[in-house]
Amino acid sequence: MQDQNILHTQVAIVGAGPCGVTIANYLGTFGIQTLLIERSTEILDYPRAVGADDESLRSWQGVGLAHDLLKDMIQNAPARYHNSKGECFAQVSPGEQPHGWPRRNLFIQPLTEQTLRKGLARFDSVRTLLGWELVSLTQNDQAVELSLTDPDGATRQVRAAYVVGADGGRSTVRSASGIELKGMTHANKWLVIDVTDDPLDAPYTAIHCHPQRPSMSIHLPYGYRRLEFQLLPGEDEAQILAPAQLERLMRQHYPHDVPLPPIQRARIYLHHSRIADRFQVGRVFVAGDAAHLQPPFFGQGLNSGMRDATNIAWKLALVLKGAAHPRILQSYDSERRDHAEAMVNFATWMGRFYKPRNRLTEWCRDLFFKAIQVLPGARDHILQLRFKPMSRYTQGIVVPLAQPAGKADPVGRMFMQPLVEQDGRAHKLDDVIGPHFAVLGLGVDPTQGLTPSQRAFLDRIGARLLMVQPSRSPALRTAVDPSVTVVDDVQGKFRDWRMKQPSWDYVILRPDRYVAAVGSSARASHWVARLEALMT
Ligand SMILES: Cc1cc2nc3c(=O)[nH]c(=O)nc-3n(C[C@H](O)[C@H](O)[C@H](O)COP(=O)(O)OP(=O)(O)OC[C@H]3O[C@@H](n4cnc5c(N)ncnc54)[C@H](O)[C@@H]3O)c2cc1C
Repeated sequence: MQDQNILHTQVAIVGAGPCGVTIANYLGTFGIQTLLIERSTEILDYPRAVGADDESLRSWQGVGLAHDLLKDMIQNAPARYHNSKGECFAQVSPGEQPHGWPRRNLFIQPLTEQTLRKGLARFDSVRTLLGWELVSLTQNDQAVELSLTDPDGATRQVRAAYVVGADGGRSTVRSASGIELKGMTHANKWLVIDVTDDPLDAPYTAIHCHPQRPSMSIHLPYGYRRLEFQLLPGEDEAQILAPAQLERLMRQHYPHDVPLPPIQRARIYLHHSRIADRFQVGRVFVAGDAAHLQPPFFGQGLNSGMRDATNIAWKLALVLKGAAHPRILQSYDSERRDHAEAMVNFATWMGRFYKPRNRLTEWCRDLFFKAIQVLPGARDHILQLRFKPMSRYTQGIVVPLAQPAGKADPVGRMFMQPLVEQDGRAHKLDDVIGPHFAVLGLGVDPTQGLTPSQRAFLDRIGARLLMVQPSRSPALRTAVDPSVTVVDDVQGKFRDWRMKQPSWDYVILRPDRYVAAVGSSARASHWVARLEALMT
């Protein structure tokens, strides 16, 4: 018999920041009973993340919130890198949308969090406890026991099958689970000033890579602007926050004939480059800032958390529905930790790039960027943001090719998201398949060659079956199994993809849009069998 004083749930998420709320939206979408526990009664309004990438938007698309979130974002925001003379030596302005969304988008974090939280109202299976604080937790083979204080200060107990700690940089879940956060805190502090009613005509992100005091000026939605300045060694924090000092610094970005805007808030931050030594201990997982902290120079802290959220949510859901073996949960650590660490290292490196060691290094850097302007491949690498480290899963829930195809090998990489046409209307690919596994036959029926037991397995994991037919080809609908959705490759993106590797006409996508398997449809049964072996 269940103790009535203990709250029971399938998943407890500690922390209702952007990472925790995104996981809760996913679990709600999958119908999983979820408790979202947050110690604060309000959304934090500190100046924090301002940038979301295309991968995060794709994650939010999976929970039906991307369009609502985009309403408060500036899309396709360019970034300009300036030298100490004020000259622009490099520009990032990505126009490509390989994953179906703009790649550099600017937002106000509390607005984004509000929309994410509103999304939870759609789910009866998700309950949010605001003003509840996790104090400690223990786990055994069956469950995790959480001890909390409620808004009245009373001690309360929660029993959950699984716990996700999305409780930020000072995570209680992490410390209570014996997970260590390794790495360093940087000596240099940064001042962040958020202003309102911004009069500056500079609709981009300006990064001033200066050997003494690097700084940034970021154009944000609704007349906001973010200014960031590195503090000089020995500079007094209290003095720098004095209004006259703040104005002096702001003048570096505002010409004298432009009035200074009102300051909304100014804070001083330390930057960290840290990563948890494990992302999982038994039934407990850490995600978002609880698992990794990075300097904000590449704007990937929150975005890394969205990758965690999208990775862990479908795995928990399939395990709790009994459609997958709990062993698949171990792949969360192996798939996410290496890439999260690569992002921490990359952001740390970007920080060094922002502050050249001396004028000579600066001169060499400028020369390098000038030279690559004449090499379209290299120029586009920067311009289109192709230098961002992308996840690639080589172990976990992936079926590697017998002969790896190097850079062209799609297995374990995020799949493209083109438009496809269904019944005469164009849709983004993910909107047709939903946040589920998908089996795509490119010009072929994806059920061909599968045994009844393999069909039953695909059914259990909720896989969608899709036949992508070459654009404007004679309709093959009658020859296709009725469970298969037929779409038209209206943009020709699948054609182009196949032209690179004509023998690959069978693709299995995971719910997080990573390629689980790829190959010839003649071996469809083999690919599904390999996936089944990984999952069950
Ligand atoms: C100045 C600055 C600029 C940044 N710029 C960017 C950017 O441009 N792009 C980007 O991607 N990232 C950026 N980041 C990072 C980004 O803000 C964070 O990575 C992101 O907010 C982390 O989200 P989270 O949900 O993991 O954690 P948090 O947002 O920290 O949320 C954790 C939640 O857990 C709650 N909590 C903590 N302990 C408990 C407990 N014991 N019990 C119950 N609840 C608890 C907290 O109240 C909080 O609501 C920036 C950060 C800073 C500081």
